[in-house]
Amino acid sequence: MSRHPNIVILTGAGISAESGVPTFRASDGLWENHRIEDVATPQAFRRNPTLVQTFYDQRRAFLGQVNPNAAHLALARLEAAWKGDFLLVTQNVDDLHDRAGHNQLLHMHGELNSALCTRCGAARPWTGPLLGNPTCPACRQPGGLRPDIVWFGEMPYHMNRIEAALAACDLFVSIGTSGAVYPAAGFVGWARDAEAKTLELNLEPSAGTPMFDEARHGPASVLVPAWVEEVLGSR
Ligand code: NAD
Repeated sequence: MSRHPNIVILTGAGISAESGVPTFRASDGLWENHRIEDVATPQAFRRNPTLVQTFYDQRRAFLGQVNPNAAHLALARLEAAWKGDFLLVTQNVDDLHDRAGHNQLLHMHGELNSALCTRCGAARPWTGPLLGNPTCPACRQPGGLRPDIVWFGEMPYHMNRIEAALAACDLFVSIGTSGAVYPAAGFVGWARDAEAKTLELNLEPSAGTPMFDEARHGPASVLVPAWVEEVLGSR
C-alpha cells in the first residue's frame, strides 16, 4: 500500500438500520410493506403516480424523525482525518451521511431530499411533499416533478466517478449492504481488479461475502467505529 492509501467505501441500507430506517429486504423483500415493483420502477410511477409519490413523500417526511448513528459519525471522522483519497458511495436515499458531514459523498441511487423534473430534467433540493403537482423551481411548469430516486431499470448516478475511484483504490469497504443490487454488488470485483484490499462489515454474511478478503459481522454501530479507530490508529 502507498503511504496514504486511497479508500472507497460503499454503504447500504444496513448502516441506517440502527437510526430507525428500515432496510429493503428486512421483511421478505418488501420495502415498508410495498412490493418493489409497486414503488421502485418507472412502470409503477406511470401506473400509479399517486401511490408512488405518497410512498416517497412519507419516506422524506420520516427523515425528520431519525438521526445519524455512531456508524455514520465514525465515517465522517474518518473522511475528515484521512490524508489519502477518500470517497463514500452510498446506495441510501436518506440524508444521514450528509448530516454526519462529508465532502466526498456520492448518492448513486438518488436522494429523498431532491426532486427531478421530467419536463426540463433539472434536479433541485426538495424537502416537502411532491403529491399535488407542485411547480418545478427550474422551469416553472407544474406536474412534472418526481422523486429523484434511481428506480430499478434506471441508470445509477456518478458511475464514471465511482469506476475511476475504484480503479485507483487501495482499500474497498462495503458496509450494511446485501450485495443483491447491481451494479453496486459488483464494486468488490472492480476493487479486486485494482488489487485493492477488500473488507465487508455487515450484520450477517451477504451474497457477496466470498468475494471479500475479510468479513466482519455484527451491527454497524459497533463494527464501523471500531474499524475507523483501528485505521486511524495505524496511520
Ligand atoms: P438491503 O436492504 O438489501 O440490505 C441491507 C443489509 O444490511 C443486509 O445485508 C442486512 O443484513 C444488513 N444490516 C441490517 N441491519 C444492519 C446493521 N444494524 N448493521 C449492519 N448491517 C445491517 O440494502 P441495500 O443493499 O442497500 O439495497 C437496498 C436498496 O434499497 C438500495 O438501493 C437503497 O437505495 C434502497 N433503500 C434505501 C434505504 C435508505 O436510504 N436508508 C432504506 C431501504 C432501501
